[in-house]
Amino acid sequence: MTDTKVYLLDGGSLVIDGYHVFWNRGPAGEVRFPVYSILVEHAEGRFLFDTGFDYDHVMKVLPFEKPMQTKEQTIPGALGLIGLEPKDVNVVFNSHFHFDHCGGNKHLPDAKKICHRLEVPQACNPQPFEHLGYSDVSFSAEAAEARGMTDQLMAGTTRANSTFEGIEGDVELAKGVHLIFTPGHSIGHYSLLVEFQTRRPILFTIDAAYTQKSLETLCQASFHIDPVAGVASMHRVRKLAEEKDAELMYSHDMENYRTYRTGTQFYG
Ligand SMILES: [Zn+2]
Repeated sequence: MTDTKVYLLDGGSLVIDGYHVFWNRGPAGEVRFPVYSILVEHAEGRFLFDTGFDYDHVMKVLPFEKPMQTKEQTIPGALGLIGLEPKDVNVVFNSHFHFDHCGGNKHLPDAKKICHRLEVPQACNPQPFEHLGYSDVSFSAEAAEARGMTDQLMAGTTRANSTFEGIEGDVELAKGVHLIFTPGHSIGHYSLLVEFQTRRPILFTIDAAYTQKSLETLCQASFHIDPVAGVASMHRVRKLAEEKDAELMYSHDMENYRTYRTGTQFYG
């Protein structure tokens, strides 16, 4: 059996203010941060975690985030760099449905789709302060219909091919591929722990901690539904990394991201 391989699919970058990255702490000023998806090549299949942002959506709805994205940084483009096509992905798992984590789902109609059982309902009916976060509903015909935003649906996206299997709590999706329930940033947020045969595990915080400094200072992003749960999730991530001797990787940390393997390079 071949060992698990993890590829990071570079998805371009966005800009937000420092006070959004570090809630009530800052400092203020534009922070450009990376967005990426995680492809796990596993004996049980090809699993894609998150799908980045859609450039046109951000330009239309959140142009102040100044998106930068080349063709190679879209889901089809990034998969193409490693010789794959969207139809080669067996399972898509979304950590949550903020626009920078689900924008490429529309390219993956054939994959099985999984998320926390409360995330689709939340995208259908977000809190007033979550509307921009959940502004790209092209991943789900159900959410697009509920929000009156079916104009976002790409031709070919139907209820049948955009229905999610809902899970709750921690789940081992495939052997050594662990979904770690870390709510707070969103109602059904997950982090991801991947174990290998020949190297240390990797713990992807996803948006439980945007950056290394976030985790070290327990300072979450200003975007959240439950900041108290968010702090508890950060404690949980820290403890799990220690117990598993896992390498931590952060979702939106440009300084660390520059040291991560992307493109054709992989972990495993
Ligand atoms: Zn994010």
